[in-house]
Amino acid sequence: MNHALVTGGAGFLGSHLGDLLLERGWRVTVMDNLITGDTRNIAHNVDNPNFRFIHYDVTNYLFVPDKLDAVFHFASPASPIDYLQLPIQTLKVGSLGTHKALGLAKAHGARFLLASTSEVYGDPLVHPQTEDYWGNVNPVGPRGVYDEAKRFAEAMTMAYHRFHGVDTKIVRIFNTYGPRMRLNDGRVVPAFVGQALRGEELTVFGDGSQTRSFCYVSDLIEGIYRLAMSEENNPTNIGNPSEMTVLDFAKAIRKATGSNSNIIFQELPVDDPKVRQPDISKARRLLDWEPEIPLEEGIRRTIDYFRDKV
Ligand code: UDP
Repeated sequence: MNHALVTGGAGFLGSHLGDLLLERGWRVTVMDNLITGDTRNIAHNVDNPNFRFIHYDVTNYLFVPDKLDAVFHFASPASPIDYLQLPIQTLKVGSLGTHKALGLAKAHGARFLLASTSEVYGDPLVHPQTEDYWGNVNPVGPRGVYDEAKRFAEAMTMAYHRFHGVDTKIVRIFNTYGPRMRLNDGRVVPAFVGQALRGEELTVFGDGSQTRSFCYVSDLIEGIYRLAMSEENNPTNIGNPSEMTVLDFAKAIRKATGSNSNIIFQELPVDDPKVRQPDISKARRLLDWEPEIPLEEGIRRTIDYFRDKV
């Protein structure tokens, strides 16, 4: 039986990845310090003999006694307000945490997958974003703590691949949504869904003309699993290319919830990217993967999840 470590495995994406690995016959060890993760995301697995949870900060020395076949490094604050409130932890988990997780993969001869991000492209000047674009990032702005940590993490990952021969993968994850997001993490999906369900005004930042492309979580996790099992070592975008403005997204949420909340406009956060859309030609070609869940369906499932939590 294959054994995987998922750092950040009590978080939104990490917990869904752990579930998929268990379904596909893996043994799963989750490490999480629970600063943004939540044990409720993994509670359904506690009685599973193939599942283990270790409450631990992955920026410290890592030791796992039993043989690992794969290390998935998903630990990190991941919403703009989280990394603004946790700037040092964000930098540490992307740098020290990635180093420790890579060292562990090397010691076990395990493959390694880094959860990277579309934020490595910053406020992109190339649209849609292809993997060969180097990005437009402000290193000293408030978002720089996340963007630069992930850029460093990618560089460290490639160094372990080239210098130590570790079989590494890098997934660049674009905006993803679904059950187990935190209602108050500040990201646009839980923010709008929570506001609409409570009958509050929907807070669109700026004039709402900035664009994002939203991927449902099960599509993303399937793409990540295929990438992990592939032979590809260079960064690969995984996301849903269907792009929309934030204002249109607010209207879609209002419609899907049946809410008559007003839309109000608030100040745009510093360095908020104006456009974002993944070019997924590489994932299509290499992994025979593309997203399947349409926005209406994904949003319906997400609203169902949040309905009794608002
Ligand atoms: N946004 C918004 N209202 C909110 C939260 C976010 O208009 O209450 C906007 C935000 O400015 C950005 C987009 O929605 O343009 C997506 O924001 P999110 O925080 O989800 O992630 P990002 O894509 O910026 O990393």
